[in-house]
Amino acid sequence: MNNIKRRNTRQRAIIYDIVASTDTHPTADWIYEKAKKVIPNISLGTVYRNLNILKEEGKIIEIQDSKQSRFDAKTQPHYHFKCEKCGGLYDIEEEKVYISTNLDEEGYQLKDAFVILNGICYKCKGN
Ligand SMILES: [Zn+2]
Ligand SMILES: [Zn+2]
Repeated sequence: MNNIKRRNTRQRAIIYDIVASTDTHPTADWIYEKAKKVIPNISLGTVYRNLNILKEEGKIIEIQDSKQSRFDAKTQPHYHFKCEKCGGLYDIEEEKVYISTNLDEEGYQLKDAFVILNGICYKCKGN
């Protein structure tokens, strides 16, 4: 039992490190490919399960993209910019975007603003 627990903790730490190693907001498939290099017998299901646990623990966030969920180890509030040309997902600092909310007046209590801005990124602009 203890061995299994230790193995699970190790797998989870590896998966977390993979997500935290990039700012490209990887998909589970991408994370799985990387994880296989460290843990050759890991399954995609195990990767998903660990991503869910990490999410529940508040260590990563899941971003619902049109096709596949993407994951982010940057958990402090920030916005995302999605490029419609290359599909890249970029972190945008909150200060760069001003979103006015008058929800208080209407009795709504805002807890989280999950915003994906769509457009063309600086790399694709002009191409
Ligand atoms: Zn782009
Ligand atoms: Zn992000």
